[in-house]
Amino acid sequence: MKYSHLFGPVPSRRLGLSLGVDLVPHKTCSLNCIYCECGATTILTDVRKEYVPVKAVIAELDDYLAASPGLDYVTFSGSGEPTLNSGLDMVVDFLKEYHPGYKLCLLTNGTLFAGEKVRSAVSRIDLIIPSLDAAGEETFQKINRPCNDLRCADIIEGLIALRREYAGNIVLEIFIVPGLNDTAEELSLIKGAIKKINPERVQIGTLDRPGTEDWVAAADTGKMKEIAGYLDNAEVIGDFHSGQPVSSFNDSTSRMILQTLRRRPCTISDLTNILALRPAEIQKYINQLLAQEKIDAEQKERGIFLKIRNGYGGFA
Ligand code: SF4
Repeated sequence: MKYSHLFGPVPSRRLGLSLGVDLVPHKTCSLNCIYCECGATTILTDVRKEYVPVKAVIAELDDYLAASPGLDYVTFSGSGEPTLNSGLDMVVDFLKEYHPGYKLCLLTNGTLFAGEKVRSAVSRIDLIIPSLDAAGEETFQKINRPCNDLRCADIIEGLIALRREYAGNIVLEIFIVPGLNDTAEELSLIKGAIKKINPERVQIGTLDRPGTEDWVAAADTGKMKEIAGYLDNAEVIGDFHSGQPVSSFNDSTSRMILQTLRRRPCTISDLTNILALRPAEIQKYINQLLAQEKIDAEQKERGIFLKIRNGYGGFA
């Protein structure tokens, strides 16, 4: 079976080996974050609907999980906001009923929890990782560039309501953008919001791969440690180095590389981890894809990042 809505399994720094489930078309999101590694949002919306057919997602999951692969999580994530899909609850219910051995995780921008239906849809998920990069409206607008209807205060209220009703673990993620949300005033607002939301854990991260806007820089390690200390109980997320073998389910390595790069720019080393192939072998495919002008290479601080060439969309 060819999978259109599943990706990976990906060794992630937080979740171990995680099978990704993408519930919306590429870059359908309620935010257009300046640091987004998937590029600019193309469908900016907070309207929930069945963006991809839930029946098709369930059929792919059933097929893939039938072989009982060893996974740490099945994770709703991808290149947009998963809670925008109005059928999320049906996918969760299916997994809990037919594949109960797998833990479920949701990576979300946390913008839609003010809605009771969304809180109900995620209630059976084992781990929710929402992001919150600002607790003041002005900085929220600058970093996250939301669709019109969304207000920072409402999002925080939604997260507080989620905490009240949800029995699983919440790990709140904060992306630090130097010059925007790392000032004493902004951090104090964020700290106040964390206190009210009361997540199990807080993780902070900064730019690791090219973002949507070129001018976004990474915070330095010293500053990140200082912020983690100030926010109490927060930890800095470092680079993930797995080393564990990962079996990919796509028959075409080229296509798998393109699918991976479509979701986020990667170095050769990232691709080596994800696809469990030797660097020299990956390089062979990369040379071919560069020559075919399907991808571009870009020098960044952490190395050479490969990304889908603007306008190229010819992969399954
Ligand atoms: S980082 Fe996440 S929330 Fe922000 S635009 Fe990208 S997909 Fe949407």
